[in-house]
Amino acid sequence: TLARVGGDEFVIVVNAYENTGHLIALAQRILDTIAVPFAVADNEYYMGASIGLSLFPEDGHDVATLMRNADSAMYHAKQCGRNNFQFFTAELNRHLQRRFMIEQALRRALATNELSLVYQPIVDSQCGRTIGAEALLRWYNSELGNVSPVEFIPVAEDAGLIVEIGTWVLARACEQVAQWRRTLAPDLIIAVNLSPRQFKSGLVERIERCLEQSGLEPEALELEITERLLMSDSDAVLPMLSALSAMGVRISVDDFGTGYSSLSYLKRFPLHNLKIDRSFVAGLPDHRDSIAITQAVVAMAHSLGMNVTAEGVETAEQAAFLRAIACDKQQGYFYSRPVGAGAYARSLSDAQMGFAGVAQLS
Ligand code: C2E
Ligand code: MG
Ligand code: MG
Repeated sequence: TLARVGGDEFVIVVNAYENTGHLIALAQRILDTIAVPFAVADNEYYMGASIGLSLFPEDGHDVATLMRNADSAMYHAKQCGRNNFQFFTAELNRHLQRRFMIEQALRRALATNELSLVYQPIVDSQCGRTIGAEALLRWYNSELGNVSPVEFIPVAEDAGLIVEIGTWVLARACEQVAQWRRTLAPDLIIAVNLSPRQFKSGLVERIERCLEQSGLEPEALELEITERLLMSDSDAVLPMLSALSAMGVRISVDDFGTGYSSLSYLKRFPLHNLKIDRSFVAGLPDHRDSIAITQAVVAMAHSLGMNVTAEGVETAEQAAFLRAIACDKQQGYFYSRPVGAGAYARSLSDAQMGFAGVAQLS
């Protein structure tokens, strides 16, 4: 039985099937049939479909449950790149349930003070001095425990919570580093991650307000954006980045080298820094490909007038290699894990005491 349930959604009920192989063959036949190009008024058109399958009785005993689970499987098929079919599985079900729990808990996380920031030192490659920090978000929930930003940031993006959370991160980070600049190190910089979804109208004004309220100089703020953002909607993004850059805020491309093969955006946008993804740093100093890539990125960035930060530096050998190829800044467990504000401030003032001690001796 074939039925249209609304919009561009259709339901097919297969009453008798011998095995799942039969269903796979049927789903594939539907996709192949739909994929055949067709002509309308001399133009050729293509169509595609995404199919989700749920089985009676494994995936539900009533129509509503079977429909809901087929729907979840269909969204999974869309996430898998469309034009394919997916079965509803116990794993998908667990994944969706956890996502739902995260979303519900995240809606209250700001109000209940469950979010906090940790700071990972950014180190000058040549002299080894800490010149700033990257602010990284942490979330502890009494039921879910510690949830990684890798897991909850995408949920916050989909649930429309990222602007509110991101604004909190910006305000908190600016406030914190402004205080450190007054009391500990006047030239400290702070790097803050921005989701592509934060690039909506009002972003520039929100950042201006954060700087004003914290008294932080724009030069002390570095915004980490993704390659994905630069490839998405340049008509909307370019004016925002230009306005921020004109204010004096620095723009840094995070996880550089993982996103896209086209590099043309490097000259189109006002960018100040590239962060070499840690997957390339991990191969140093032994793997030829990693060596070639990191050297090429450093050379290219410098000739375009940009700085380079290496992420995920874990060993002394990696640190020495990056220094030797003139990579400007480094960050990673070799120097320090991300730590709370108190520990970060202590390590800064310890370093300064050590420095003052040496100065006195000489
Ligand atoms: P990212 O911005 O690329 O941050 C670097 C990640 O690598 C951090 O993970 C950091 O803890 C980890 N890391 C640092 N050094 C090392 C190392 O030596 N070895 C290894 N294996 N890992 C290292 P974290 O804190 O779990 O954050 C993951 C991602 O979540 C971040 O990647 C960023 O994309 C996102 N994120 C974190 N905080 C925020 C935020 O406030 N806003 C947004 N939009 N995204 C955030
Ligand atoms: Mg980052
Ligand atoms: Mg990164």
